[in-house]
Formats: sequence, C-alpha cells, structure tokens
Amino acid sequence: MNRAEMLLLDILYPNRCDCCDDRIPYDRLICDACTEMLLDQRITYADWAASNPENPWETGTVLFSYADAARTGVLAMKDGRRGFCRFAAKLLAESLAENGSYSFVTWVPITAKRRRLQGYAHAEYLAKCIAEELQIPMRGGLIEEHAGSVRQHDLPAEERRKYAERFTGTGADLSGAQILLTDDILTTGATLRRCASLLLEMGAARVDIAAVCAGIRDVSQT
Ligand SMILES: [Zn+2]
Repeated sequence: MNRAEMLLLDILYPNRCDCCDDRIPYDRLICDACTEMLLDQRITYADWAASNPENPWETGTVLFSYADAARTGVLAMKDGRRGFCRFAAKLLAESLAENGSYSFVTWVPITAKRRRLQGYAHAEYLAKCIAEELQIPMRGGLIEEHAGSVRQHDLPAEERRKYAERFTGTGADLSGAQILLTDDILTTGATLRRCASLLLEMGAARVDIAAVCAGIRDVSQT
C-alpha cells in the first residue's frame, strides 16, 4: 500500500483506538495515551498466582488487570476489533520469548454455535497473533467445548469448575509437545486449568499459559 492509498483509506475508514475510540494513524494499533497508561498498569503472573497457587501448567504470563483501558480493549477484541489484540500479542510474545521454545500455540475454544453467532473467535485470533510474533505454528482442534446456554461470566465462582467440565479433549497424540495455551482473561483459572489438564492427559510434556488480562481484583474479593 502506498502513502496515497493509506491516506485515502484513513479518510474512508478512520482507524480508531480500541481502548478510547480516538482516531489514530493507519499504521498504529492503539493510541499513545492508552499505550502509556497500559504499560504503567502492567501486572505480573505472580500477582494472580499468589491467590491461585494450584495449577497444572508450568508458567503463566499475563499483562493487565481486567479494568480500564484493558477491559475496553478486551471487549473490543470480542467484537472482532483487532488493534488491542495485536498490541497485547506483541507484549505477550516479548515475555514468552524468555520461556524457551514451544511446539505450537493453541487456545481455549468456543462452541461451533457461538463461533457462528460471533463470526469470529477472539482467543483463536489472539493465538494466531502470538504464533506470528513467536514464529511458531498454531494448532486447534485439540479441545472441544460442548454446547450449553449458560455463559461462564454469569456463574458464581464455585460453579465455574463444573462449567469447565464442558471442555473435553479430542484424543490427539500430543506426546512430548511443549504447548502454549492462550485465552483472553484469566479469572478463577477454572477454564484454563481444565484445558491445560486435557492437553497434559493427551501427552503434552509441558503446558504454559498466556492471557491478556487477569482478574486480580475479582480474586481478592472472593
Ligand atoms: Zn486510546
């Protein structure tokens, strides 16, 4: 795309920051103000793990509390907007590069029905962006979510574990695989614990997890 084409696109389809909706240049993912705010509000996985020590994965990586610009960005991801998602994938990949290499990236799936309704699976797109940044393959079809009408976010914490049992493994042979498992938000961890356990049952040698946001405040309140 040359400069004239970019300027024309900018007039026809203005690029906007997923977090604050301000106009931004065509080659930017989110605005400078939101970038600065988000980088100031980085949290570590250890902040989340302090309240949730029992997990089947080896290491975890998270970026932000689920609040403010990060929350707006995640909601935009779910609407199929991609700027914040790519911004987050770059940051995650920078941290993940220190963990050594992975065989592939996979993600927490949604039901076929929900994917049709949304037209888009945001955790899958996040996995794709991380895979591109780390220059490793992505691989789906390892875990299935079975249909149900209740959304997890509507459930109290103690019922989330039961909800997580909706996920089952597809029986793939993952012998020896070093797997990175991604999702948008790490809240109680029930879904990621279930999915990581399924990957290990299918033979994975190691599973690490990466999420854009972690529900630190939620966890401290329960
Ligand atoms: Zn912004």
